[in-house]
Amino acid sequence: MKKYKHLFFDLDETLWDYKANAVDTLIELFEKFELGTNGDLTADDFVAEFFRTNRELWRKFDKRLIDKDKIRQDRFPLIFERLGVDGHEDVAALQKSFIYESPKKGKLIDHADEILEALSKHYSMHIITNGFEEIQATKLKYSGLEMYFQEVVTSERANAQKPDPGIFLFAMEAANAKASESVMIGDNLITDIQGARGVGMEQVFFNPGKITHDLEVTHEINHLFELSGILLNV
Ligand SMILES: [Mg+2]
Repeated sequence: MKKYKHLFFDLDETLWDYKANAVDTLIELFEKFELGTNGDLTADDFVAEFFRTNRELWRKFDKRLIDKDKIRQDRFPLIFERLGVDGHEDVAALQKSFIYESPKKGKLIDHADEILEALSKHYSMHIITNGFEEIQATKLKYSGLEMYFQEVVTSERANAQKPDPGIFLFAMEAANAKASESVMIGDNLITDIQGARGVGMEQVFFNPGKITHDLEVTHEINHLFELSGILLNV
């Protein structure tokens, strides 16, 4: 007998390829804003510094030291400062363009589409994501993922962010799901996995980088197609 009825997915880096989509956007913006014309800044430097700074800011966000507005506000000024591109006049426009353009990119994590298609025939599927309503909706729409999901619960909608139990409880209520018949699938051990465990929901840790950890997880996979072994052969 099938163990679960409801599958709750994280979005960024579990299904939607945040990294690849950010790289594509940054390279376009590097050209558009002619960042390489004055000085010796290369697109590679710009992309690499974006990820360093972004990772740092998101870690602070996950520890609740800063909010999302602060990430948006500080990211590009900090990147420019670190690259020695002082007081670039286009920083505000670049910031806006990044936020506007990157969610429209549609690259997905390998096998996301096929596995969602197969799973959608057997389960009710939902998203739980720390993000803004409008941005996450744009990603789902442009990437073609929208059709697979019934409830899309963002931290903005739930007024709580993973790993806070509030967002999981909100999502289960919206989906009319019980924790015992639900599983959370995500790439972040703290926000997705510990968060789900905190409300009694089983978890699938998507670990493409094969990081080592000593947390207890219900299932662990390195590729999304492995979900079929857990969720389709039962
Ligand atoms: Mg994620």
